[in-house]
Amino acid sequence: MPRAYSYVGPLDILQRVAGEPTGTPIRHHADLQHWVETQPASLLSIPATFIVDLAGVLLLAERRSEHVVCAGGHAVLAAGEVVVERGQPPFIAQITNQSTGYCPEPDSWESVQRAIQHLPQDVMEGFSPAFTFRRCPACTQINVVKDDDFECSVCGCILPQEWNF
Ligand SMILES: [Zn+2]
Repeated sequence: MPRAYSYVGPLDILQRVAGEPTGTPIRHHADLQHWVETQPASLLSIPATFIVDLAGVLLLAERRSEHVVCAGGHAVLAAGEVVVERGQPPFIAQITNQSTGYCPEPDSWESVQRAIQHLPQDVMEGFSPAFTFRRCPACTQINVVKDDDFECSVCGCILPQEWNF
C-alpha cells in the first residue's frame, strides 16, 4: 500500500477548505483536454497544482491553489506541481512533489505514475525536481533539504534522515 499523506501545513490555510475538493478529476485524456480548454489561451505550457486522492485519481487545480483546498482537506497519495503542454492532444510534461502542505516523499512518484498511466505524457523518469522535506525536531520549521544538507534553515539543528511528518 502506498503511504497516505495527511495535511501538515499551517492551520490558517486548512481553514480555507470549503468542503468538496476544488480540483478537477482527470481520469481520461478527454478530461485533460477539457481542463486545458478552461485555461488561458495565451499559455502554451500550463503550470498547475495537483493532488492524487486516496482513490488514486489525479486532480488538477489552478497554479497557486493550495493543495489542501484542491484535495478538500483530505489525505492524499501524492501532491505537487505539474506542467501540461497544450499539444494535440495536451500532455503532461513535468511533475514535481513540491507541496509544503503535504510534504510527500519522492517515492510518491509511484502513485503519480498509476494515476496518469492512461494520460498522454512526455517521457518522465520521476519527479523533476524531487523535493525532500523534513520538519525540524527543535523549532518545527518545514525544511526542503538541498544537496544532502540536513540542517534546519532557521535554527541550524540537524534534521533526521527519515521522513518525519
Ligand atoms: Zn529548526
